[in-house]
Amino acid sequence: MPELPEVETTLRGITPHLLNQSIKKVSIYQAQLRWLIPDLVSQLLDVIVIGLERRAKYLLIHLNNEQTLIIHLGMSGSLRFCAPNDERRKHDHVIFHLNQAQELRYHDPRRFGCILIEPTISVFKHPLLNKLGPEPLSPDFNAPYLIALAKKRKKAIKSLIMDQHIVVGVGNIYACEALFIAKINPGKICSEVTAKDIKALVNAIYDVLSAAISQGGTTLRDFVQSDHQPGYFAQQLSVYGRPQQPCLICKTEITVITLGQRSTFYCPNCQK
Ligand SMILES: [Zn+2]
Repeated sequence: MPELPEVETTLRGITPHLLNQSIKKVSIYQAQLRWLIPDLVSQLLDVIVIGLERRAKYLLIHLNNEQTLIIHLGMSGSLRFCAPNDERRKHDHVIFHLNQAQELRYHDPRRFGCILIEPTISVFKHPLLNKLGPEPLSPDFNAPYLIALAKKRKKAIKSLIMDQHIVVGVGNIYACEALFIAKINPGKICSEVTAKDIKALVNAIYDVLSAAISQGGTTLRDFVQSDHQPGYFAQQLSVYGRPQQPCLICKTEITVITLGQRSTFYCPNCQK
C-alpha cells in the first residue's frame, strides 16, 4: 500500500512535469473508484496546474479555475506519465491529457483510491481533510504535543501514533520501525510511556519517514519512465516483516503480535 513516503515521492516525481502545464482534457474509463469520480473532473478543459501539495496521503493539484483535484492512491494506485500512443494498460482508469508528448495516467487495480474535485478556497474543509492531525515532518508534530496527548490516554502507544487525528501518515510499517528505534514496547499504555521516551519516539518517526523519502528520491528518475513502476522502494527494515529472526541489536527473536488488528513486530528484549 502506498504510504506517506511513497505519496511524497509521487508528489516530487510529478511536480516538475505538471506544474504550469495545461490539462487539455480528462478521459475517464472507470469512474467508480472508492467514490464516484465527479462529472466536474471529466469536464475539465484547458486548465492549468498552478500548484501541487500533499496533505497526509492525499495529493492536491490546484488548478487555475479555482478548483483543486484531490487524489488518493488507495491500496494499489499509482500515477505515471506516458506518451499518448502508449497502449493503455488494464486498470488505467483515468488519463489526464497534457500535451502532444505526454499524458498522466491513474492506475488502480483494486479501486480503493479516489479522484475528487473541490473549490480550492475550501479544500481543507473537505470531510476527508478537516480532521487530520499534523504532518509528522512538520514542527507542529513535536514532543510537547505528543506528551500532552499521551498523558490522558489508556490505549496502546502504537495505536496512538497510527491515529490520523493525532498525526497523519504513520502507517503500520513505520509505526513498528519507529517504536523499535525508540525502544518502546508497541503495546505499552500511552499514559505509562515516559516523556523522555515520547521525545525519542517523535524523533524516530521523523527519522524513519525522512529516510524512506530520501530513498524514494533516488528512484525519481525511474518514476517518469513509462516502462517502470513508480515510486515504491525496498527499504531497510529492522523489525517489520522479520518474525522469528534475530533482533539486529541483541539477537533476541523478533515477536509478532496483533495489535489494533494489525501485525505488530517488536523485540521483547530491546522494547520495554
Ligand atoms: Zn533486541
